[in-house]
Amino acid sequence: MTFTHPELNLTDPTQGFAHFVLYTEPHLSVAGAAWNATIIIERQSSYVREWLDRIQRCDPNPLHTTLVDNHKIPRLFHPCVDEDADSPSAVAGSGCTCCRTWYDPASGLPVVGEHFRTRGGDTDRWTYTTYAPLDLRPGDTFHAVIIDRASRLFWIRTGAGSLSFVPEHLSRGYDVGRSGGGPDAFAQYLSQLVASGGQDTAVAIPASEQSIDPQLRAWVTSQDAARTQELTLRDLNAIRQR
Ligand SMILES: [Zn+2]
Repeated sequence: MTFTHPELNLTDPTQGFAHFVLYTEPHLSVAGAAWNATIIIERQSSYVREWLDRIQRCDPNPLHTTLVDNHKIPRLFHPCVDEDADSPSAVAGSGCTCCRTWYDPASGLPVVGEHFRTRGGDTDRWTYTTYAPLDLRPGDTFHAVIIDRASRLFWIRTGAGSLSFVPEHLSRGYDVGRSGGGPDAFAQYLSQLVASGGQDTAVAIPASEQSIDPQLRAWVTSQDAARTQELTLRDLNAIRQR
Protein backbone atom coordinates (compact mmCIF):
# COMPACT_ATOMS: atom_id res chain seq x y z
CA MET A 1 0.00 0.00 0.00
CA THR A 2 1.49 3.32 -1.01
CA PHE A 3 -1.20 5.70 0.21
CA THR A 4 -2.99 5.75 3.54
CA HIS A 5 -5.66 8.16 4.69
CA PRO A 6 -6.64 8.55 8.33
CA GLU A 7 -10.32 8.85 7.39
CA LEU A 8 -10.27 5.23 6.18
CA ASN A 9 -10.33 4.27 9.83
CA LEU A 10 -13.91 5.54 10.19
CA THR A 11 -16.15 3.01 11.85
CA ASP A 12 -18.95 5.41 12.75
CA PRO A 13 -21.84 4.69 10.35
CA THR A 14 -23.26 8.15 11.00
CA GLN A 15 -20.17 9.53 9.26
CA GLY A 16 -20.01 7.07 6.37
CA PHE A 17 -19.40 3.50 5.41
CA ALA A 18 -17.02 1.81 7.76
CA HIS A 19 -13.57 0.69 6.69
CA PHE A 20 -14.84 0.31 3.14
CA VAL A 21 -12.61 0.54 0.08
CA LEU A 22 -13.80 -0.31 -3.43
CA TYR A 23 -11.69 -2.56 -5.62
CA THR A 24 -12.16 -2.50 -9.37
CA GLU A 25 -10.89 -4.24 -12.49
CA PRO A 26 -12.54 -2.01 -15.10
CA HIS A 27 -11.50 -4.15 -18.08
CA LEU A 28 -13.53 -7.01 -16.54
CA SER A 29 -16.40 -4.72 -15.40
CA VAL A 30 -15.69 -5.79 -11.82
CA ALA A 31 -16.19 -3.57 -8.76
CA GLY A 32 -16.44 -4.84 -5.21
CA ALA A 33 -14.93 -4.80 -1.76
CA ALA A 34 -11.17 -4.54 -1.43
CA TRP A 35 -10.98 -5.84 2.12
CA ASN A 36 -14.38 -6.72 3.58
CA ALA A 37 -15.54 -10.33 3.28
CA THR A 38 -18.89 -10.97 1.62
CA ILE A 39 -21.46 -12.63 3.88
CA ILE A 40 -24.22 -14.72 2.27
CA ILE A 41 -27.22 -15.57 4.44
CA GLU A 42 -29.20 -18.50 3.12
CA ARG A 43 -30.41 -20.14 6.34
CA GLN A 44 -32.48 -18.80 9.21
CA SER A 45 -31.52 -18.76 12.88
CA SER A 46 -32.51 -16.73 15.93
CA TYR A 47 -29.45 -14.55 15.34
CA VAL A 48 -30.31 -14.02 11.67
CA ARG A 49 -33.85 -13.03 12.67
CA GLU A 50 -32.45 -10.52 15.20
CA TRP A 51 -30.26 -9.03 12.47
CA LEU A 52 -33.11 -8.96 9.92
CA ASP A 53 -35.26 -7.09 12.45
CA ARG A 54 -32.55 -4.44 12.66
CA ILE A 55 -31.72 -3.69 9.02
CA GLN A 56 -33.50 -0.76 7.37
CA ARG A 57 -35.04 -0.62 3.89
CA CYS A 58 -33.43 2.03 1.69
CA ASP A 59 -33.14 3.03 -1.96
CA PRO A 60 -30.42 1.21 -3.95
CA ASN A 61 -27.06 2.99 -3.94
CA PRO A 62 -23.79 2.16 -5.74
CA LEU A 63 -22.57 -0.03 -2.88
CA HIS A 64 -25.58 -2.35 -3.35
CA THR A 65 -24.54 -2.85 -6.97
CA THR A 66 -21.27 -4.39 -5.75
CA LEU A 67 -23.20 -7.16 -4.01
CA VAL A 68 -24.94 -8.54 -7.13
CA ASP A 69 -23.81 -9.75 -10.54
CA ASN A 70 -23.81 -6.95 -13.12
CA HIS A 71 -26.77 -8.38 -15.02
CA LYS A 72 -28.85 -8.26 -11.82
CA ILE A 73 -28.20 -4.57 -11.11
CA PRO A 74 -31.49 -3.47 -12.80
CA ARG A 75 -33.42 -5.77 -10.41
CA LEU A 76 -32.29 -3.59 -7.49
CA PHE A 77 -34.76 -1.03 -8.86
CA HIS A 78 -37.64 -3.42 -9.61
CA PRO A 79 -40.56 -3.74 -7.21
CA CYS A 80 -41.44 -7.16 -5.80
CA VAL A 81 -44.34 -8.97 -7.47
CA ASP A 82 -46.16 -8.51 -4.13
CA GLU A 83 -45.96 -4.74 -4.66
CA ASP A 84 -46.48 -4.68 -8.44
CA ALA A 85 -47.72 -7.69 -10.44
CA ASP A 86 -46.33 -6.04 -13.59
CA SER A 87 -42.81 -5.65 -12.19
CA PRO A 88 -40.07 -6.54 -14.71
CA SER A 89 -38.89 -9.08 -12.07
CA ALA A 90 -42.32 -10.75 -11.84
CA VAL A 91 -42.49 -14.24 -13.35
CA ALA A 92 -45.81 -15.43 -14.77
CA GLY A 93 -47.87 -13.28 -12.45
CA SER A 94 -46.89 -14.78 -9.09
CA GLY A 95 -43.20 -15.75 -9.33
CA CYS A 96 -40.49 -13.22 -8.57
CA THR A 97 -36.74 -12.61 -9.00
CA CYS A 98 -36.59 -9.09 -7.54
CA CYS A 99 -33.88 -7.65 -5.33
CA ARG A 100 -34.50 -5.52 -2.27
CA THR A 101 -32.05 -3.15 -0.60
CA TRP A 102 -31.36 -2.32 3.03
CA TYR A 103 -28.53 -0.94 5.17
CA ASP A 104 -27.38 -2.08 8.57
CA PRO A 105 -27.74 0.90 10.93
CA ALA A 106 -25.11 -0.57 13.24
CA SER A 107 -22.36 -0.76 10.63
CA GLY A 108 -23.63 1.37 7.75
CA LEU A 109 -22.91 -1.49 5.37
CA PRO A 110 -25.26 -2.33 2.45
CA VAL A 111 -27.55 -5.39 2.38
CA VAL A 112 -29.19 -6.92 -0.71
CA GLY A 113 -31.96 -9.51 -0.56
CA GLU A 114 -32.53 -11.65 -3.65
CA HIS A 115 -36.04 -13.02 -3.96
CA PHE A 116 -36.67 -16.37 -5.62
CA ARG A 117 -40.30 -17.42 -5.84
CA THR A 118 -41.54 -19.88 -8.38
CA ARG A 119 -44.89 -19.41 -10.10
CA GLY A 120 -47.52 -20.50 -7.61
CA GLY A 121 -45.11 -20.05 -4.70
CA ASP A 122 -44.02 -23.66 -4.06
CA THR A 123 -40.52 -22.27 -3.63
CA ASP A 124 -40.34 -18.85 -1.99
CA ARG A 125 -37.10 -17.75 -0.39
CA TRP A 126 -34.86 -14.74 0.19
CA THR A 127 -31.07 -14.86 0.16
CA TYR A 128 -29.30 -11.92 1.78
CA THR A 129 -25.83 -10.66 0.91
CA THR A 130 -23.80 -8.08 2.83
CA TYR A 131 -20.25 -7.31 3.91
CA ALA A 132 -18.56 -8.21 7.18
CA PRO A 133 -17.02 -5.28 9.05
CA LEU A 134 -13.26 -5.09 9.56
CA ASP A 135 -13.61 -4.27 13.25
CA LEU A 136 -16.23 -3.44 15.85
CA ARG A 137 -17.20 0.23 16.03
CA PRO A 138 -15.10 2.56 18.21
CA GLY A 139 -16.48 2.31 21.72
CA ASP A 140 -17.99 -1.14 21.15
CA THR A 141 -16.62 -3.79 23.48
CA PHE A 142 -16.43 -7.55 23.06
CA HIS A 143 -18.81 -9.63 25.14
CA ALA A 144 -19.09 -13.00 23.37
CA VAL A 145 -18.34 -14.71 20.08
CA ILE A 146 -21.23 -16.76 18.67
CA ILE A 147 -20.90 -19.91 16.58
CA ASP A 148 -24.30 -20.10 14.87
CA ARG A 149 -24.61 -23.53 13.28
CA ALA A 150 -28.17 -23.07 12.04
CA SER A 151 -27.08 -20.25 9.72
CA ARG A 152 -23.38 -21.28 9.53
CA LEU A 153 -22.49 -17.68 10.43
CA PHE A 154 -20.18 -16.25 13.10
CA TRP A 155 -21.27 -13.31 15.24
CA ILE A 156 -20.03 -11.10 18.06
CA ARG A 157 -22.30 -9.85 20.84
CA THR A 158 -20.99 -6.49 22.02
CA GLY A 159 -20.98 -5.25 25.60
CA ALA A 160 -24.00 -3.09 24.72
CA GLY A 161 -25.88 -6.19 23.49
CA SER A 162 -25.62 -5.44 19.77
CA LEU A 163 -24.98 -8.19 17.23
CA SER A 164 -22.13 -7.88 14.69
CA PHE A 165 -20.73 -10.28 12.15
CA VAL A 166 -17.28 -11.38 13.27
CA PRO A 167 -14.89 -8.99 11.49
CA GLU A 168 -13.61 -10.87 8.46
CA HIS A 169 -11.15 -10.19 5.67
CA LEU A 170 -12.09 -10.81 2.05
CA SER A 171 -10.25 -14.07 1.50
CA ARG A 172 -10.70 -15.79 4.86
CA GLY A 173 -14.09 -17.58 5.26
CA TYR A 174 -14.47 -18.86 8.83
CA ASP A 175 -15.44 -22.44 9.69
CA VAL A 176 -15.28 -24.93 12.59
CA GLY A 177 -15.35 -28.69 13.12
CA ARG A 178 -12.69 -29.59 10.55
CA SER A 179 -9.14 -28.64 9.67
CA GLY A 180 -8.34 -26.20 6.86
CA GLY A 181 -8.00 -22.55 6.01
CA GLY A 182 -11.39 -21.43 7.34
CA PRO A 183 -10.94 -22.98 10.80
CA ASP A 184 -7.36 -21.65 10.94
CA ALA A 185 -8.63 -18.15 10.15
CA PHE A 186 -11.25 -18.41 12.92
CA ALA A 187 -8.68 -19.84 15.39
CA GLN A 188 -6.35 -16.97 14.54
CA TYR A 189 -9.09 -14.42 15.19
CA LEU A 190 -9.89 -16.04 18.55
CA SER A 191 -6.16 -16.20 19.41
CA GLN A 192 -5.76 -12.48 18.81
CA LEU A 193 -8.91 -11.76 20.80
CA VAL A 194 -7.76 -13.80 23.80
CA ALA A 195 -4.15 -12.56 23.67
CA SER A 196 -5.41 -8.97 23.82
CA GLY A 197 -7.85 -9.62 26.65
CA GLY A 198 -10.77 -9.01 24.30
CA GLN A 199 -9.44 -5.61 23.19
CA ASP A 200 -8.24 -6.39 19.65
CA THR A 201 -11.41 -7.15 17.70
CA ALA A 202 -10.14 -6.19 14.22
CA VAL A 203 -9.61 -8.71 11.42
CA ALA A 204 -6.52 -10.80 12.10
CA ILE A 205 -4.14 -10.60 9.13
CA PRO A 206 -1.75 -11.70 7.81
CA ALA A 207 -2.03 -15.36 8.75
CA SER A 208 1.01 -16.90 10.36
CA GLU A 209 1.47 -20.15 12.22
CA GLN A 210 2.88 -18.36 15.26
CA SER A 211 -0.25 -16.25 15.67
CA ILE A 212 -2.58 -19.25 16.14
CA ASP A 213 -2.82 -20.65 19.67
CA PRO A 214 -2.47 -24.46 19.38
CA GLN A 215 -5.13 -25.16 22.02
CA LEU A 216 -7.64 -22.84 20.35
CA ARG A 217 -6.89 -24.36 16.96
CA ALA A 218 -7.34 -27.91 18.33
CA TRP A 219 -10.70 -26.91 19.78
CA VAL A 220 -11.89 -25.02 16.66
CA THR A 221 -11.14 -28.05 14.46
CA SER A 222 -12.92 -30.46 16.88
CA GLN A 223 -16.58 -31.39 16.91
CA ASP A 224 -16.88 -29.56 20.27
CA ALA A 225 -16.80 -26.33 18.25
CA ALA A 226 -19.36 -27.51 15.69
CA ARG A 227 -22.49 -26.65 17.66
CA THR A 228 -24.29 -23.38 18.34
CA GLN A 229 -22.74 -21.66 21.34
CA GLU A 230 -21.78 -18.29 22.79
CA LEU A 231 -18.26 -17.95 24.18
CA THR A 232 -17.12 -15.14 26.49
CA LEU A 233 -13.49 -14.26 27.09
CA ARG A 234 -13.61 -16.47 30.18
CA ASP A 235 -14.80 -19.43 28.08
CA LEU A 236 -12.09 -18.82 25.47
CA ASN A 237 -9.42 -18.57 28.16
CA ALA A 238 -10.61 -21.86 29.64
CA ILE A 239 -10.27 -23.54 26.23
CA ARG A 240 -6.77 -22.11 25.79
CA GLN A 241 -5.64 -23.36 29.18
CA ARG A 242 -6.88 -26.94 28.80
ZN1 LIG B 1 -39.93 -10.24 -5.06
